[in-house]
Amino acid sequence: MSNWSLIYDRFDPQEEGLREAMCALGNGYFCTRGAALESEADDTHYPGTYLAGGYNRLGTEMGGRIIENEDLVNMPNWLPLNFRIDEQWFNLRAVEILSYRQELDMRGGVLHRHVRFRLKDRRELTLRERRLVSMHAPHMAALETTVTAENWSGTVAVRSALDGQVINAGVARYRSLNSKHLQPVETAAVDAETVYLKVQTAQSEIRVAEAARTRVFADGEVLSVDRRVDEKAGYIAHEFDLRLQQGQPVTIEKVVGFYTSRDRAVCECGLDARNAVVRAGSFDDLLTDHAQAWEVLHRRFDGDVELSSPAADGRTLMIVRLHIFHLLQSVSPHSQDLDVGVPARGWHGEAYRGHVFWDELFIFPTLNLRIPEITRALLMYRCRRLGEARANAAKDGFRGAMYPWQSGSDGREESQSVHLNPKSGRWIPDHSWLQRHSNLAIAFNIWQYYQATLDTEFLSYHGAEVLLEIARFFANITSFNKDLDRYEILRVMGPDEYHEAYPDAEEAGLNNNGYTNVMVVWLLIHAIKVLDLMSDYRREELCERLELTQEEIDHWDDISRRMRVVFHGDGIISQFEDYDKLLEFDWEGYRKKYGDIHRLDRILEAEGDSANRYKLSKQGDVCMLFYLFSTEALQRLFKHMGYDFDPEMIPRNVDYYMQRTSHGSTLSRIVHSWVLARSDRSHSWRFFIQALESDIGDVQGGTTKEGIHMGAMAGSVDLIQRSYMGIEVRDYALWLNPCLPDELKRLRLRIRFQGHLLMLETTHDTLSVTTIKPKSGPIRVGIGGKLETIEAGQTREFPLAGGRLAAG
Ligand code: BGC
Repeated sequence: MSNWSLIYDRFDPQEEGLREAMCALGNGYFCTRGAALESEADDTHYPGTYLAGGYNRLGTEMGGRIIENEDLVNMPNWLPLNFRIDEQWFNLRAVEILSYRQELDMRGGVLHRHVRFRLKDRRELTLRERRLVSMHAPHMAALETTVTAENWSGTVAVRSALDGQVINAGVARYRSLNSKHLQPVETAAVDAETVYLKVQTAQSEIRVAEAARTRVFADGEVLSVDRRVDEKAGYIAHEFDLRLQQGQPVTIEKVVGFYTSRDRAVCECGLDARNAVVRAGSFDDLLTDHAQAWEVLHRRFDGDVELSSPAADGRTLMIVRLHIFHLLQSVSPHSQDLDVGVPARGWHGEAYRGHVFWDELFIFPTLNLRIPEITRALLMYRCRRLGEARANAAKDGFRGAMYPWQSGSDGREESQSVHLNPKSGRWIPDHSWLQRHSNLAIAFNIWQYYQATLDTEFLSYHGAEVLLEIARFFANITSFNKDLDRYEILRVMGPDEYHEAYPDAEEAGLNNNGYTNVMVVWLLIHAIKVLDLMSDYRREELCERLELTQEEIDHWDDISRRMRVVFHGDGIISQFEDYDKLLEFDWEGYRKKYGDIHRLDRILEAEGDSANRYKLSKQGDVCMLFYLFSTEALQRLFKHMGYDFDPEMIPRNVDYYMQRTSHGSTLSRIVHSWVLARSDRSHSWRFFIQALESDIGDVQGGTTKEGIHMGAMAGSVDLIQRSYMGIEVRDYALWLNPCLPDELKRLRLRIRFQGHLLMLETTHDTLSVTTIKPKSGPIRVGIGGKLETIEAGQTREFPLAGGRLAAG
């Protein structure tokens, strides 16, 4: 198997939804599922096209009240290209398939399909298809189908359409909600080869224009065909008859332009879409530029992973590449011109409505060390929504900025107030918006980006204000417990979504979530640090603007030194106060009863019980502290708060919580692979392999078809760099501390850090660091506890013993 290709060698209707998500093509601007050209949305297929940040809000009446949801809109389908033989439109399920091969070529960014099939009357045809969404020209896409009548000659009717009559129907649980987001605006046949369509989203008023130029070729010559135009509201197609001669291939090429009223440097999106296809070259011309754009990205992102067992090599590397591929199809250099965040499920499907959560925390580290300009653009999505975050805090009576748990168009809280449990069929109140820790992730990401780039302009003029306002918000929701002489944070939720409230409590929320409280301490320390980093001039400006006084800053300092962390047992950080009073869960019994117990919240609710009553977690919560901070960093944080922190507590906590975690989120395996990386390498490797399987193996049983899991995808790549290469960005320096699992023989990565380009390579015996074309002068890299200077263009080698560096 080529480790650059994802290949499916038979058609499987059950798997088609999953494959559509895995074979989606995108460029950061828009993304189209890998659905068959002849398909329409039904039980098997779901051809969806999504514009990055293309949201629309609709209300639905439920039980006498209006429930409002903002969705990522399924945009007009540009794929339809089908043909009719006699009266029958081609459909894979109505023919005898003789051979089938679908290949996602990640190197070139092209989706191929090759099908041979036989009709009832024994006529045989071959189809060869190629498809791309241009990484070079973000508004362009193209597809090509070559049809050969193998054992007959005759006429087929061809239809090439743009379909704006589509609705959002990609997620079964949302189907009872209003889903018609598009309104027709206009359609036109532009010239003999081109049709054009414009629609508008019903509430957000995004105008979307698509133009499609369809050409037919035989023997490399353009074939002239007589076209009919089929036009109705929100739909337009060219239809024509095609004479097929036995054994002689005919190629149909469709080149598409996709523009919206949100684009920059456009006159009117319809005109721009039409101009784009009129000016565009052939499929092959587009392919040349597209392949070159991918080549540049691959050079920046690709590394080399060599496994000890060569048999496993191909698949592991292929999945790592697949994860990088989908990451870059969702956020790319083109994101820099957009106002978009990172959707938790990519722009690949409609799950979570394209919303932005805290998952950025798992995604940015990979971007930071390769194309940090993308991170900057994505952080700007948050900076621009500071006003909404302030309003969100004010609405609840707080100062500062309270970013939402789920964010969409303007940054208001998009979490649903109720959600459907498909297991019980009941609509359940949803309190997940109490996950205030999404704000902590934003602040942490700003700091990490700054460390990797030293982009002072961004920090001073954008990032600092967000970070300070988040700090202000947390200081504001903190209360002082006189009896304990400590600060507390009450009524929030940690990352573990299984616990929303205390058992039988009227009100949602939990007190003193360990992860939140420690992160707030980190935040307050860094808010003060950020103020110190700025020029006196800028600091003054900002303090004036925010009315931030020394008294308030002193209060932040006081909170950071006296924050409460609750412990129980032998140094176990309580996930939240009174966690230890919850019941132990019958893991064995439930495994026996249900088999798959990832979603224990749904199982328990369907039984009339509640996850709130038990010691169980959907995903790492306390363990997030060990995921984000090194032992030394944690020791510093706990010391700052006046608590002892014995490093031996880490394995005890990991062990305690791991026994109580169901891994109901794909993020969980990333976190657990990381926290075990140094203490239990083989267990950690198993989690890593499971994380790799998250989407390609659809480990959550049916969720990937609704969209990929970006956090798990990018997080697995991050594991390679942070965990196995041991990259840590700390105190403005890059530190390396490789720790290869036994299963890995060699690892090579190319990274960018503070403007320097570095090639890192490690085996179990040696770490080598090469600096390539440095921005300026030598770079200092922390190795084995010591800062080493590496000169421009130099390679330095460091011996490892048992796969680890000797302490310096
Ligand atoms: C997880 C969250 C995550 C969200 C989006 C949920 O299942 O529990 O942590 O942010 O999915 O990926």
